[in-house]
Amino acid sequence: MALEGIHHITAVTGDAQANVDFYAGVMGLRMIKQTVNFDDPSAYHLYFADEIASTGAALTFFEYPGAAPGLPGAGMVHTIIWRVASADALDFWKARLRDAEMSVLHEGDTLTFCDPEGLAYQLVVDDTDEPPLSATASDVPAEFALRGFGGVRAYAQQPEDSAELLTALGFEADGGARSWVVGGEQRSATLAYDEPPLDAARPGAGTVHHVAWSAADDEELGLCIGEARGAGAQPTGIIDRQYFHSIYFREPSGVLFEIATRDVGFTVDEPLDQLGMSLRLPEQYEQHREQIELNLTALVNPRASS
Ligand code: ZN
Repeated sequence: MALEGIHHITAVTGDAQANVDFYAGVMGLRMIKQTVNFDDPSAYHLYFADEIASTGAALTFFEYPGAAPGLPGAGMVHTIIWRVASADALDFWKARLRDAEMSVLHEGDTLTFCDPEGLAYQLVVDDTDEPPLSATASDVPAEFALRGFGGVRAYAQQPEDSAELLTALGFEADGGARSWVVGGEQRSATLAYDEPPLDAARPGAGTVHHVAWSAADDEELGLCIGEARGAGAQPTGIIDRQYFHSIYFREPSGVLFEIATRDVGFTVDEPLDQLGMSLRLPEQYEQHREQIELNLTALVNPRASS
């Protein structure tokens, strides 16, 4: 078993259009899918990624219109790490984010900022030899584009509690129980735990809902179910998510993990050049399309007009 780093990361937004404007507009990602939360079809599920809709670059949002801002605390991912190619790319993003009137902290080879709803990011210079997963945006030079996820940082009271489970899933400790790396032949990602703030965790807009790690197929999910159970977690069975198959469980520090497969993909229901242009629904909701569309705010995809 070798999980290939991160498959996707899912967060919560209170405003789908503002979310699209920031991620597809400012950050230059490609919106690759407009669908609904399969567990609650009244809510959008929007996907952003690189040009060819790779796992490893897929950032997704559930929209709950007007959702109150959340606050990450113990048991939640608090920061998402994106790779960029160079120190020049950090300078580019620093200027671009400041032009968008966002505050940015540049320390060494790391740029830290929050999205408009407070979700924290770090851009780091990519020191791996893994293929970049970048989108094409007319106003982001290719050499500065985001290159996919580097990892996540979470809050945990006692990260050593997670060590057995992480080890069972193939994560390797990188100098103690606070810092981990997981990877296969193509791609890797880091997981780090930080001391939680005093305030209790408050899920809501601008917080991460779960992080999904990348498995090949159902066979590997089956192995993960066995390993997770063996380490005391309670994984779900395999769930069909249309674009991948998934299992979910909380790891001992409280972070909601998903493990999702790479064997289906985002082009299963629309061709690559049309990804993200219209609302896609899984079969079980297609008969309710009219009602679902009435409930959702129509979105403007910046690519549709360019
Ligand atoms: Zn997910």
